[in-house]
Amino acid sequence: ESELTGDFAELMSWADEIKKLQVRANADSPRDAAVAIKFGAEGIGLCRTEHMFFEGDRIEYVRQMILSDTVEERIKALDELYNFQVEDFRGIYRAMVGLPVTVRLLDPPLHEFLPHTDEEYQAVADKLGKTLEDVKTKGATLKETNPMLGHRGSRLAVTYPEIYNMQVRAIIDAAIDVERELGCTIVPEIMLPLIGSESEIVYVKENVTKAIDAAIMAKNAKIEYKIGTMIEIPRAALTADEIAKHAEFFSFGTNDLTQMTFGFSRDDVGSFLPEYINRKVIQVDPFVSLDQSGVGQLVEMAASKGRSVRPNIKLGICGEHGGDPESIKFCHKTGLSYVSCSPYRVLIARLAAAQAAAEEIILEHTTDKVLVADK
Ligand code: PEP
Ligand code: MG
Repeated sequence: ESELTGDFAELMSWADEIKKLQVRANADSPRDAAVAIKFGAEGIGLCRTEHMFFEGDRIEYVRQMILSDTVEERIKALDELYNFQVEDFRGIYRAMVGLPVTVRLLDPPLHEFLPHTDEEYQAVADKLGKTLEDVKTKGATLKETNPMLGHRGSRLAVTYPEIYNMQVRAIIDAAIDVERELGCTIVPEIMLPLIGSESEIVYVKENVTKAIDAAIMAKNAKIEYKIGTMIEIPRAALTADEIAKHAEFFSFGTNDLTQMTFGFSRDDVGSFLPEYINRKVIQVDPFVSLDQSGVGQLVEMAASKGRSVRPNIKLGICGEHGGDPESIKFCHKTGLSYVSCSPYRVLIARLAAAQAAAEEIILEHTTDKVLVADK
């Protein structure tokens, strides 16, 4: 914001005055966070943590963790990862100086972390004192035909609970450290991915809450925190009232929600969708502009079901659509609290949010619908 000058700065300050939606950014490094702040983001709506697991030596520990057979070995590898993870979050909290940060716990299919070559498998086998064959057999059990519909998201918290336990400890410790360092208040927002049912969120939340409370005790500190969930599986939207009993916020993961509502693979969008759009079989790419009739209905339904149980539930969107002006208009109409988008789309999102609010005002004050026709 401070970089903007003259007319542009003035325009953006009008936009901020009129908009109702908060604009946050999707950022998973201190560098992204700094860019987000520069463009006027009011927080981080989605900090994905999966990239952090691939950096440098970390992948070695990740591989040891997923290929070991004992909880002790997993915890040993995770203790190493904790040291990196806590520094990741400290960096992000420092960059955001007290603005809200929603950290999403690990989401990708586990097989993405598997070794690719025999040498890489051998290195893990040596570390774990197992044979090459043993670790390769274990690795084979993690392969899936449809990994995006499989062993990922909060499902990992059921099969490998130690991973989320390590992550929440790092989040809490980093928040406490940076609060002390900067003298600001930080309320960590911990987000569970790919929740599909009430029983699932109850199970995962119970485990992570224990780990969070243990971390706070160990630090001898006091800190508030929030636990919420992504709404990105149609079943979660349909049962959002049950889920809201256990979630302080919802963030719509419209990338997965679009994939699972249409049954279109988000990873193969280049194959036949362009042809579909050319031939007007579908009107627009639903991965770019939120499909307001189908996916939108699920978002509206989940928002209203969520509010029916928890009137002040915080609602946001963090799929790609959070940076698309037409979709932002829809988010405004649905009464979401915020949109979260790429740092580079924050300016556009602020303008789109202001335009949505301005149109509403014009509609309230004029009967001349031509003024707002189609725009
Ligand atoms: C989503 O599904 O919309 C989302 C934000 O999560 P990801 O893209 O990481 O699956
Ligand atoms: Mg998702």
